[in-house]
Amino acid sequence: TTVQPRRQIQDLPDELVSQIAAGEVVERPASVVRELVDNALDAGATSITVRLLAGGVRLITVEDDGCGIPREELPIALRRHATSKIRNLHDLESVATMGFRGEALAAIASVSEMAVLSRPQDQDTAYMLDARSGELRPAARNPGTTMEVKELFFSTPARRKFLKTDATELAHCIEAVRRHALTRPSVGFAIWHEGKLVEQWRATLGAADLDAAPDAETREQLVQQALDKRLADVLGHDFLEQSVVVHYRAGHVLVRGRAGVPNAARARADQQFCYVNGRFVRDKVLTHAARAAYEDVLHGNRQPVYALYVSIDPMRVDVNVHPTKIEVRFRDSREVHQAVLHGVENALAAPRAHNLADAQP
Ligand code: ADP
Ligand code: MG
Repeated sequence: TTVQPRRQIQDLPDELVSQIAAGEVVERPASVVRELVDNALDAGATSITVRLLAGGVRLITVEDDGCGIPREELPIALRRHATSKIRNLHDLESVATMGFRGEALAAIASVSEMAVLSRPQDQDTAYMLDARSGELRPAARNPGTTMEVKELFFSTPARRKFLKTDATELAHCIEAVRRHALTRPSVGFAIWHEGKLVEQWRATLGAADLDAAPDAETREQLVQQALDKRLADVLGHDFLEQSVVVHYRAGHVLVRGRAGVPNAARARADQQFCYVNGRFVRDKVLTHAARAAYEDVLHGNRQPVYALYVSIDPMRVDVNVHPTKIEVRFRDSREVHQAVLHGVENALAAPRAHNLADAQP
């Protein structure tokens, strides 16, 4: 073995630091879509439109009607570790927004041609910032924000080579939006590809409807109806008709959603959605608990279908485990496991679940 001559320690250039960080957050067009839709939701958008060219590789735009970014903050928004969402450790420990790391825009800008067009409600005109040149100029837009991401990975060909066909990348982009749509029935979503509308899920519940509800019970019913409508829109009427409502509270945990009857199980685990405080997650505790609930009623390798929404005090869950925030850590995972297990078990044991099961051929 030859010993390499020692090289001097140096700070990496900023651009390279961003590109390295981008590797963790931006894997493919769908990762960009996820981050931009997260931001639109955090901005309080009620309508989000995603437009794609070539599966998102050539162009991704995400338009929202949210709070916008003031002109003077546009350049800051693109800086690494710059965020409006948390200020200190306490905020971090109780974070309720999708974002908080202040990394996504900087990461995306470092591996694409990015532009931001935004106008807060109280600003007369919109401004457009070109990330690469830093040019900031007035532009026309209704209040809200448009993020434009062109030629993803153009400067990092090694990354670009890992991308699959446009059709596959498009499918991943749609899946990313679907995951958001399933947990935000009050937000309308549309996805366009190559100028054609490929998916549209209309808002099913307005804040005004909720405000008009006379009591908590009515509100709860409205929320369930809105969720059911969205589940049917996104996953199909079969999902709704062959599932039962889950609504279960245990200790600090509320589990709601829908669990498919055993007969609705599929060969692939492609309709299993778990959320924690509105965030789509992949979590062993949750999937294990859900699977366990089917232990006595589902045999073989068939995969149950479900959409489960766990609500828990943000202090009792750590979302800062992974840059993509798709993993979480529960302070008391046993408590969460039990709540999901019993919630789904109870729902499946209810008379309606049996009726549905018997009605199947
Ligand atoms: P994070 O979401 O973690 O704060 P980002 O890099 O994704 O970090 O975004 C940086 C900041 O830019 C956000 O904190 C927010 O203030 C602002 N921002 C990004 N997207 C939008 C948007 N669609 N509408 C309003 N503000 C936005
Ligand atoms: Mg973000």
